Amino acid sequence: MCKRPSRLSDAICRQLMRVRQQVKPVGLIPADGPPKAQELVESDPFAFLMAGCLDRGMPAEIIWGLPYCLKRVLGHLDPCRLAAMTEGEIRSDLYQLDKKPRYINAAPRTVSQVSQMVCKEFGGKAEALWHNTSARKVQDRLRQIYGVGPGIASMIVILLERLRWAHFEDLYDVNVKPDVHVQRVMYRLGLVDRMSEAEAICAARALSPHYPGELDTPLWWIGKHWCFDTNSECGKCPMDDLCPKRGLRETNL
Ligand code: SF4
Repeated sequence: MCKRPSRLSDAICRQLMRVRQQVKPVGLIPADGPPKAQELVESDPFAFLMAGCLDRGMPAEIIWGLPYCLKRVLGHLDPCRLAAMTEGEIRSDLYQLDKKPRYINAAPRTVSQVSQMVCKEFGGKAEALWHNTSARKVQDRLRQIYGVGPGIASMIVILLERLRWAHFEDLYDVNVKPDVHVQRVMYRLGLVDRMSEAEAICAARALSPHYPGELDTPLWWIGKHWCFDTNSECGKCPMDDLCPKRGLRETNL
C-alpha cells in the first residue's frame, strides 16, 4: 500500500514541478565533459537512444557522453553499420574509450540490439520508434532490447516528452525510474515511508496520476545536486522550506 498524498505532499509536488521547469531536458553532461557530447544526444535521435539504453550502473554524465566518444572512435554513428558489426567488434571499439561502460560485456549486446532494431524495424531512423504511437508501445519496444528494463524504458519516454521529440496521450502509463536518487529524495521529502522501488512507483502514481513520470526529473536532479547519500546541502536545495528532511539527522551524523 503506498502512502496517500497529504496537503504537504501536494505542496511538495508543486515545488517539484517548478524545479522540473529549470532542468534542461537531458542536461547530463558536465561542463568539463566533451564539449560536443551534449549537442549530439540532443540533436541525434540514435545517439540519444543508444545512451538511454546504456544508462545503467554508471554516472549518467559518462553514459550520455558515450555516443560522442564512440562516434570519434568509429568515425560514424550509423545504426545500420553498427548493426552489421559483431558484438566482439563493438566490444573492441568500446574498449578504446577513455571511460568505458561499467558492464563492458553487456554493453556491446545492447548497442548491437538497439542498432539492429533501428536499422531493420525502423529504416535506420531512431525517431520512427517513437513517432505516432503510444508511450506504452514505445516502452514495450524498448524492453525488447537487451539490458533495458522498465525503469530505463520509462526514463527514455520521459526524456522524449521533455525534449518535445514525441507527444504521448497515455502519459499516465509512464512511471518514475526509481533509482537510488529518486528513492532517497522521496524518502527525505516524506513522500514514501521507506526506500523501495515499489513504494516510489506507487507514491508517484498517487501523487501525479495523470503523469507519474513527471516527478522523475526533479527528484533525480535534487538527489544528484543537493540531497546526497551521506549528507545534504539543504540550504541550496529548492525544497528546503517544505522538506521534513526525514532520516537526514541520522545520515548526517
Ligand atoms: S531539503 Fe535537504 S533533505 Fe530535503 S530534499 Fe533537499 S537536500 Fe534533501
